[in-house]
Amino acid sequence: MSAAPQSDPITADILAIAAHRDDVEQTCGGTLLRMAARGLRTAILDLTRGEAGTRGTAEDRAREAAEAAHILGVGWREALDMPDGAIENTYENRLKIVRVLRHLRPRVVILPYWQARHPDHAIVAPLGYEACFLSGLAKVETDTKPHRPFKIVYASLYADVRPSFIVDITPFIEQRHASLMAYRSQYANQAAGSALFVPEEEIRERTFAEARHYGLLAGVKYGEPFVQKEVGLVDDLTLLPVQSL
Ligand SMILES: [Zn+2]
Repeated sequence: MSAAPQSDPITADILAIAAHRDDVEQTCGGTLLRMAARGLRTAILDLTRGEAGTRGTAEDRAREAAEAAHILGVGWREALDMPDGAIENTYENRLKIVRVLRHLRPRVVILPYWQARHPDHAIVAPLGYEACFLSGLAKVETDTKPHRPFKIVYASLYADVRPSFIVDITPFIEQRHASLMAYRSQYANQAAGSALFVPEEEIRERTFAEARHYGLLAGVKYGEPFVQKEVGLVDDLTLLPVQSL
């Protein structure tokens, strides 16, 4: 799927930004499915094209990412050209994201949590945050109007941190798994990189167990965790959504 021309901005309600193709499928794919089922328009921006991967080529990844986006019900997905394994929080990279933010005009942006084993995942949190800020500044000139997202949330699946909230993905867990398995060049059982990659059957077991763990925290079967930096503001205590006991 390709981007609309810059002169014709499209809108997305929710944009998930991630370092690599297949990150979103693992950390917030169920959430994107749930939001799409609610009638919201979802989008994915991958910052790299996967040229450093042990398995498959960037072309394989592009084809698989498009298929995964289709499975996730995502209306727009593009990849930027930041170097895989060496993403940096530079002004130039922030501007690349600003152009996408002003094009799609999302209300909510999902970023990876800021602490992660993979340096690419960790750096996308401040890089994405600063791009969201810059995108709202009129003095930062691009060929589209300024836009600042209303809300940023951090997908914290792989971080050892207590989530601020969970999204119930129980009805969508199989479809989320199918979106990850669309990356056949990565996850189908094969000889290349077999010392590095876990077998296909174990991916299912691991990802379902993680989702079950987070679901249990919120009293549902399968869940995806998120952290928000802001403290919540409440008008009416009786409208708080989660039961305590
Ligand atoms: Zn990744």
